[in-house]
Amino acid sequence: METIIKKIDASQIKPDDFSEAVRILKAGGLVAFPTETVYGLGGNAYDSTASAKIYAAKGRPSDNPLIVHISSFDEIYDLVKTVPENAVRLSERFWPGPLTMILEKSDRVPKETTGGLNTVAIRMPSHPVANRLIKEAGIPIAAPSANASGRPSTTKAEHVIEDLSGRIDMIIDSGSSDIGLESTIVDLTVEPPLILRPGYITAEDLKEVLSDIEYDKAVLRRSKDDNIVAKAPGMKYRHYAPKGELTIFEGEPKNVAYAIKTAAEEKLKAGAKVGILTSDELSGEYIGLSEKYGSTVCDRNDGELLLIDIGSRDDEAGIAAALFDSLRKFDGYGAEAIYAESFDSKDIGQAIMNRLIKAAGYHIVKV
Ligand code: AMP
Ligand code: MG
Repeated sequence: METIIKKIDASQIKPDDFSEAVRILKAGGLVAFPTETVYGLGGNAYDSTASAKIYAAKGRPSDNPLIVHISSFDEIYDLVKTVPENAVRLSERFWPGPLTMILEKSDRVPKETTGGLNTVAIRMPSHPVANRLIKEAGIPIAAPSANASGRPSTTKAEHVIEDLSGRIDMIIDSGSSDIGLESTIVDLTVEPPLILRPGYITAEDLKEVLSDIEYDKAVLRRSKDDNIVAKAPGMKYRHYAPKGELTIFEGEPKNVAYAIKTAAEEKLKAGAKVGILTSDELSGEYIGLSEKYGSTVCDRNDGELLLIDIGSRDDEAGIAAALFDSLRKFDGYGAEAIYAESFDSKDIGQAIMNRLIKAAGYHIVKV
């Protein structure tokens, strides 16, 4: 099928911007749209055929449930059996925004949308384009990240075009997603509530509202050998992975840079294309390598080495926003081996490292 690309300026939404997208959604078709976290691939959450189309377009396993997006709190009552007090309080503090809540689903939500579960994941995005699209469609929109299953999530329309063009009806292009990592997921069907996926809203943020909150053990998993099954079905799959083999180096920063240089040089000497994901603080360590094998300027791919400086280690929001785009740049470059520095696991760093570790298939080298 031919995919329509529709540009919408989020700061200047025009009255008929959404008419075609709404028509497609109501007819059971699929529209990829921007949110503040990542781009989503949307379909009518009440339509089991639309959900089936989402799984097919992404190549997503059918037991991996979709998040249902709403545009105002009242829309939640059709989707769930009961609205617990915690959901009301969390929504008052964090909605619209990058928080997804798991609740008991109502009979109206088909099992296809929830991957066969009796619970449903719900989020109210703050992105004006997402909000208007859902509002004008007048239906809740089921939307997973708009990437091909297993690949890094999509933070720009170009990423969506790369993965899904020809497989869906429309892609709305409104530039880059501000946050760049998927929403924090909190399961409210258990006591205490559990964080199933870390995100921009941290455990500390949630503690301002919930007296007691814990991480699902799988979130903190650091090794493939731990026998822990994730409660969010999607978190058990290999995910976010670039095409090249990604290895994370963890330890004292200077030691990390030295170990990466050594590993990279070995590959480079063997003639491979290599990627290094570094930070402002350590990028200077690789100058010798860049001069010899590639470009010292990030984002240029005229050598055997692509060095991407993701920004300062202190700017966690900046790292989060650039992470998936960087992994995709290594793919575009054709990097066969990618070496990444590790980042602090505090605050948003928890979510950054969660995605990076999964992208690396738990391949972490301690130095
Ligand atoms: P995505 O929208 O691609 O970010 O994926 C949605 C994530 O939410 C996946 O990791 C799902 O497993 C998770 N999820 C959605 N619905 C549920 C649910 N009812 N229970 C637990 N996890 C869920
Ligand atoms: Mg996803």
